[in-house]
Amino acid sequence: MNRKIISIIPACLFVLCTNCCANNETRQETMDNAERTLPVTWSANDSIQYFDIDYDALLTGEANKYREVSHPTPNYDRNAVNEVKGVILHHTAEPTAEKSLDVLTNSPRNVGTHVVIDYDGTRYIMCAPEVVTYHAGPSILNGRESCNKFTIGIEFQGNTVEAPLTEDQILSAIEYLRPIIAKYHIPMKNIVTHEMVRKAYKAKYPKSKTYGKVDITQAEYKHFMAYFKKEVKAKK
Ligand SMILES: [Zn+2]
Repeated sequence: MNRKIISIIPACLFVLCTNCCANNETRQETMDNAERTLPVTWSANDSIQYFDIDYDALLTGEANKYREVSHPTPNYDRNAVNEVKGVILHHTAEPTAEKSLDVLTNSPRNVGTHVVIDYDGTRYIMCAPEVVTYHAGPSILNGRESCNKFTIGIEFQGNTVEAPLTEDQILSAIEYLRPIIAKYHIPMKNIVTHEMVRKAYKAKYPKSKTYGKVDITQAEYKHFMAYFKKEVKAKK
């Protein structure tokens, strides 16, 4: 199915990205929802040109431009510390940032993320990078399972199947990530999408009923990474 066809599927058919991120997925796994039939847009052949990051260069540059708002989530693991070895990019698939924040704070599904980035680049900080919160669900990143334990979750407001990320969202995410990537020396290959880590999980466990993800789309991943490369290289 191509993107043109995908784009006409009503938004109501999509389940909030964060649905799959809960500890308890029983409710979601019993849903015979349309999302399962959507194609997974990423494949191993769809390569990104990764390079070694100059971590010192990440810390240079201008002062922060985008607004940050604290919006703590109670949904995190009190007994663990995040190893911060990777970044997983998501979209919320909710109509507004307000609704996304509500789900990520008050939902009985116990979902969370580190930051929600609105269309204008405003960042809603939900917990510190060192916190383990629930954004990835069943997942594998470069061979390692349970990504919540060692990755940062970034939720872009909106639905990248329907519309691309805004430039402000991308630049705000990079601004947020600069000091984190520098501090923890996160390699570029560990900056991935929810779709990629879910696809890796399903490849290892083909009998798993865990459904595939479309966030963020491969096209928007490339879009984001193109900016990331440009920003990092420009500041060298
Ligand atoms: Zn997601």
